[in-house]
Amino acid sequence: MANSPRENFVHWLRDAHSMEVGTLDDLEKFAKRIDQYPQLKTRIQQHIEETRGQERRLKELLESMNESTSGLKQAVTRVAGNVQAMVGTLFSDEALKNVIASYAFEHFEIANYRALLTTAEQVGDTRALQVLQQNLREEEAMAQWLEQHLAEITRRYLDLDASGAGGKS
Ligand code: MG
Ligand code: FE
Repeated sequence: MANSPRENFVHWLRDAHSMEVGTLDDLEKFAKRIDQYPQLKTRIQQHIEETRGQERRLKELLESMNESTSGLKQAVTRVAGNVQAMVGTLFSDEALKNVIASYAFEHFEIANYRALLTTAEQVGDTRALQVLQQNLREEEAMAQWLEQHLAEITRRYLDLDASGAGGKS
């Protein structure tokens, strides 16, 4: 059973769209539990807005390719379920563990967008290239921010937990 590059491309775009739908849900839960980390909270809220844009851009791209929304909906349920299962195993009630899970997850997104970019080049879809590049840049920036702040957040977690002020978010 062969799949053309274009068939794979559409399939993976749908997966990416579903990934963003699932991410949005997880980020919103995450943001609610980090009041003791104001800088992190602000950055996560920014990424929630970015993720909304990513989801919308992918949806519009799929629609412009005449991909039916019913197929889109089925794929959302399927892949969002998978993403949630994966993220669910990573996320816990500890703020620091969630930061680590987010860092891992941003790299999952980065790898997906890089593979999609290669595929978009192969099928010669220049419009998709722009969308994918923008999404990729936002994921890279988020991953970089987490990397730069991991030490600071870890120290904050340790201080909070030592004072009994609730390192558990
Ligand atoms: Mg994303
Ligand atoms: Fe992201």
